[in-house]
Amino acid sequence: AIPAPPAIFSPVRENARGWDLTDPDTVDRITGSAFMGDHRWEMAPEGLSGPVQTLTNPARPGDSPGSIRQAARSDVAPAVARAAAAAQAWAATPVAERAACLSRAAALFEAHALELFALAAREAGKTLPDCVAELREAIDFLHYYAAEAEEACAGSEARGPLVCISPWNFPLAIFTGQVAAALVTGNTVLAKPAEQTPLIAARATALLHEAGIPRDVLQLLPGDGPEVGAALTADPRIKGVCFTGSTEVARLIERSLAAHAAPDAMLIAETGGLNAMIVDSTALLEQAVRDTLASAFQSAGQRCSALRIVYVQEDIRAPFIEMLTGAMDALRLGDPRDPATDVGPLIDAEAQADFAAYVASAAADGRLIHRTDAPSEGHFLAPTLLAVDGIGAMEREIFGPVLHLAGFRADRINAVMAEVNARGYGLTFGLHTRIDRRAQDVVDRMEIGNLYINRNQIGAIVAAQPFGGEGLSGTGPKAGGPHYLPRFRKRAGAGPAP
Ligand code: GLU
Repeated sequence: AIPAPPAIFSPVRENARGWDLTDPDTVDRITGSAFMGDHRWEMAPEGLSGPVQTLTNPARPGDSPGSIRQAARSDVAPAVARAAAAAQAWAATPVAERAACLSRAAALFEAHALELFALAAREAGKTLPDCVAELREAIDFLHYYAAEAEEACAGSEARGPLVCISPWNFPLAIFTGQVAAALVTGNTVLAKPAEQTPLIAARATALLHEAGIPRDVLQLLPGDGPEVGAALTADPRIKGVCFTGSTEVARLIERSLAAHAAPDAMLIAETGGLNAMIVDSTALLEQAVRDTLASAFQSAGQRCSALRIVYVQEDIRAPFIEMLTGAMDALRLGDPRDPATDVGPLIDAEAQADFAAYVASAAADGRLIHRTDAPSEGHFLAPTLLAVDGIGAMEREIFGPVLHLAGFRADRINAVMAEVNARGYGLTFGLHTRIDRRAQDVVDRMEIGNLYINRNQIGAIVAAQPFGGEGLSGTGPKAGGPHYLPRFRKRAGAGPAP
């Protein structure tokens, strides 16, 4: 039986209820705030002596949301020393007190919603619905981990200083989820946000401090991965790493930890995906197209859960493509601050250039099925549909609005499932069918973290849909699920207490 989610958490997202984007006044309040205009954030987290980084809005190169002082490599050792010195007192703080800090932080996040929306839009290029979802997920993580903490901590010990390395695609939600989990389980934290999105992480850190998390217990170290991230993970005083990002960087971190840490040191890595969907000939076409569109192109495809390859049964291939390409043409690309925008920019010029080259080479191979238009200013990439034989022909994770399409004959459906499993990623998978037995068969066969039937395959909801993959997609345990917090603890008596 599927266990009921804890009472405190509502899968319909009780939190941030006021932010209903179907209400024009609410939209005006969000888009009309000074934060969405030319407000600038000038941040200087404590104890840092690196260069000042100036951020630009990926949708509008002329707009700068602000600047932040970065950590220098030489700032890392003193920061780890502070985290180590603070570890024992924080571990000894009653769980209820640590959880109360998270609950207060949730209220503060809510109170600063307009500011956080604007940072998500102007620093990370998120559309308004994505900005709202981002804040809700962050608050969900705070409430959920606060509610789970007591049980997770029973009979175990905190690990000590942990490093949290978070991605730019969920610059508030994943940053907050990692840090909240580590803190509430009694560990001190050194947080390294993505190079592209340090401002929103710095605001979140300041709100967590205001909520009662001591400054030595949570320190923010913005900077480059190879500089600051590498120095952090190589420090022998750290007891584990929580990471979301690429499979390649996860491998580097694993090696770095293995060189100095105890064999039972914590490594949680949530990495990439090459996510597939199967649409069979019994599927409701309109629904399959709508869910394909959302899965592949919402957030400009910059989700590790996003759909990269849709397998469509040959019998419906032509009408599916016709309907999908028509729907792609209706997507509006533009400034995320415009409520009419469906698809925002890619995160930076590098991503844009990388994808442009990828699409150009596929087009040269005669694989371009359809491509829409993109604005000329800003780091946009037009939603693109490419033909492909199957997932085996895809070399790497594609982190943008590029969807691949393969046909399959009804008698090859098992081969398709085997091929997707064999590719080795196991994050999300989608199925559109009206045959119950087929749905059960897919559930039984697929080696996958999150499987979605007759719906889109993005936007997992904390507690109701714990999120994470297997194989090349990550170590587990799933974020926002009951197994996550216990991993941040070690067995009582297993080595010296921090
Ligand atoms: N949890 C997100 C979702 O379900 C994806 C997280 C990620 O991209 O890292 O869409």
